[in-house]
Amino acid sequence: MTFTPNTANSWQIGYQAALNRVRSQLTHAPENFPIRLAKKTSNLFRDRAATQANGLDVSSFSSVFEVDPVNHTAEVGGMTTYEDLVAATLPYGLMPLCVPQLRTITLGGAVTGLGIESASFRNGTPHESVLEMDILTGTGDVITVSSHENDPHRDLFFTFPNSYGSLGYALRLKIELEPTKPFVHITHLRFESATALTVAIKELSASAIFNESPIHFLDGTVFSPTEQYLTVGTMVSALPAGKNTSDYTGMSIYYRSIQSLAEDYLTIHDYLWRWDTDWFWCSRAFGAQHRIVRSLWPKSRLRSDVYWKIIAINRKLKCAEKLDTLKRKPPREPIVQDIEIPVDRLPQFLDFFHSRIGIEPIWLCPLQQRDPGVRWPLYEFDPDRLYVNVGFWSTVPLTNGERPEQGVKNREIEHEVTKMDGRKSLYSTAFYNKDEFWSIYGGLDYEQIKKKYDPQGRFLGLYEKVVEQQ
Ligand SMILES: Cc1cc2nc3c(=O)[nH]c(=O)nc-3n(C[C@H](O)[C@H](O)[C@H](O)COP(=O)(O)OP(=O)(O)OC[C@H]3O[C@@H](n4cnc5c(N)ncnc54)[C@H](O)[C@@H]3O)c2cc1C
Repeated sequence: MTFTPNTANSWQIGYQAALNRVRSQLTHAPENFPIRLAKKTSNLFRDRAATQANGLDVSSFSSVFEVDPVNHTAEVGGMTTYEDLVAATLPYGLMPLCVPQLRTITLGGAVTGLGIESASFRNGTPHESVLEMDILTGTGDVITVSSHENDPHRDLFFTFPNSYGSLGYALRLKIELEPTKPFVHITHLRFESATALTVAIKELSASAIFNESPIHFLDGTVFSPTEQYLTVGTMVSALPAGKNTSDYTGMSIYYRSIQSLAEDYLTIHDYLWRWDTDWFWCSRAFGAQHRIVRSLWPKSRLRSDVYWKIIAINRKLKCAEKLDTLKRKPPREPIVQDIEIPVDRLPQFLDFFHSRIGIEPIWLCPLQQRDPGVRWPLYEFDPDRLYVNVGFWSTVPLTNGERPEQGVKNREIEHEVTKMDGRKSLYSTAFYNKDEFWSIYGGLDYEQIKKKYDPQGRFLGLYEKVVEQQ
């Protein structure tokens, strides 16, 4: 079923009917199998066990129900992709406060799994601009939760981020939007040391001003210990005379432009999806950055969800592993992670990373909690501190007979991040033991909320999902 945006709440009738259907699906699902979302896309890197599960059909919750251009809010189905969400809001000159880079990340997925992007230094992460949500709980109820102090379910509102669907599924979210301008002027600033880069991240994030213009977006790319960039973005209403926008959806590659251009202009649409075309730089693993291959690759297929499909086939057939064995190459450990550390630790973390892991490029994104007065128990930051997200997505060769499934390098990263008072995002593999995991990810709060909203354990627990990969 699809709902037509902006037809004076007409969506609510269809929405109520869809709620009844999904509640009934959950109530009638056999209790001996876990519940899962049956949806077409995913941006979860870890493998799921091939166990039998009850797949909930949530396709009725995958569109934008309403955009309110006066109050700058939107009512959105929980399984709506950011691609569709942005397409619905941009015509009003509005966008979500944090738009994750991959087109098929859904609003519900980003809220429960903590999305991040270059507006995060001023707007925090997607859950921080949610006004209210309808959540399907393990009891088959759909409850509306908000941060309002009289809301009896505000405990679930605050525990939901980083719960990865283990406390319930967000079916409708009312979110804040912010005004956009048609173009983004970007400037790439080069730094030859991580210390200089860190000083600049602190200054630019605190002032939110660059060359007397407001900074709307800030992220960074590290190509080597002596070649690292901060990209400052400012929304502008018009292009200066003689300037044109660049296009990185065809032969030109965005991340390469960072090294060769001091400044650039993109449409706001192309800015938001600048990383998706090449999945940051990861498309090179599929040959999509080779000039001849790229000239033959349909432009419409230069997208992260296409690369996901290639990865799925590779995982199934183990092509890369078999090729390595044939060539007598050592096995490789996948390291696909995002971590957050306090900004002052960045040089130390990058030193460790260059010497012990050696993946390049690396993505950086400063972030700060939007409202210092609230607490998000499953992913707690020091609300007064600036953090930096560090993203790295590749594989590394193993030595000494180590096997990828041992996660030797991933464990080393986990250890280092914890030592630096940081946090690791949970969309990929994790190796923590139970005690360590719960000491980092709000164990006491989680246990109480899990018992209250999913007393029969219809949804897999967070640890089982994330570490045991059930
Ligand atoms: C290589 C890679 C790079 C990434 N880079 C970024 C990045 O740059 N920026 C960024 O923001 N994120 C990034 N992510 C992480 C991504 O945002 C999270 O994995 C997010 O949870 C994916 O959302 P999805 O909608 O695709 O959900 P899925 O992948 O389908 O599901 C993720 C989890 O969320 C749960 N879930 C999904 N929808 C809901 C819902 N409506 N209610 C409750 N639970 C739900 C699922 O049960 C599952 O446990 C990256 C991930 C990968 C693998």
